[in-house]
Amino acid sequence: MSTTESASPRLAEVVAALDERYPPAWAEDWDRVGLVVGDPTALVRRVACVVDCVPETVAEALADGADLIVAHHPLLLRGVSSVAATTFKGRIVHRLIRADVALYVAHTNADVANPGVSDALAARLGLTDLRPLVPAPAGGAAAGGGRGFGRVGKLPAPVALAELVAHTAAVLPPTAWGVRAAGPPDRLIETVAVSGGAGDSFLAAAVAAGVDAFLTADLRHHPASEHLAGGGPALLDAAHWATERPWLDDLATFVRDRLGVPAMVSDLDTDPWTVHVSSPASPVDKEPRP
Ligand SMILES: [Zn+2]
Repeated sequence: MSTTESASPRLAEVVAALDERYPPAWAEDWDRVGLVVGDPTALVRRVACVVDCVPETVAEALADGADLIVAHHPLLLRGVSSVAATTFKGRIVHRLIRADVALYVAHTNADVANPGVSDALAARLGLTDLRPLVPAPAGGAAAGGGRGFGRVGKLPAPVALAELVAHTAAVLPPTAWGVRAAGPPDRLIETVAVSGGAGDSFLAAAVAAGVDAFLTADLRHHPASEHLAGGGPALLDAAHWATERPWLDDLATFVRDRLGVPAMVSDLDTDPWTVHVSSPASPVDKEPRP
């Protein structure tokens, strides 16, 4: 056994440390988090941090020599009765087990954690005085400690919405999607709510928070339109992956500092969208509907 190996923690130790930072009890009831694949007695010499456990990020992790992949999105969320290699997910499970690579998921429990997914997103924007957009319910497992979904914070100085959109696109990881926004381009923005991932369900919370703008992903026509018609904050809609990728740096730093294990962060854009073209006849910065 080499010196590196004898100094490397077992998977069980790594899982215990991750469970302590992101307790599975903090996850939503519908969520599926924690260890998905892996032998607790195996040594962990390298960790790969990814948003999505897909063939591309698995290949990257394997090439990097990782023994453990920590992913944000669950690989297996709904009930599964087979992991045969005849399905997309079954092939991933096979590839992981054949390569002796473990998989651990921290999803909504990492969203509500403090620091969590939206703290990393808020930090990219330079927001300060952070508080949860939707505080963890009193009496619940995650209650207190500044935990909850999303964050509300303040920009260093007010900026026009168009400027904030350009700033957001510049500080987030690059994607084909980029960032689109809804609301008057010259609207002054000082307070901002952010929520990594799909934030449709937090539109009402953003209104209640009284912020000038809300940055999230996966916004849809009707909820966004109705929100704006009701006088809600301006909306910034970034690529889902780009809003969660910033958290991987925080995760990797934790793994390195707490466990002394090298951790790689994947910059592979796993957003499904690969092409984005603005319509030549319709300026992207059109005036909003009266
Ligand atoms: Zn997500």
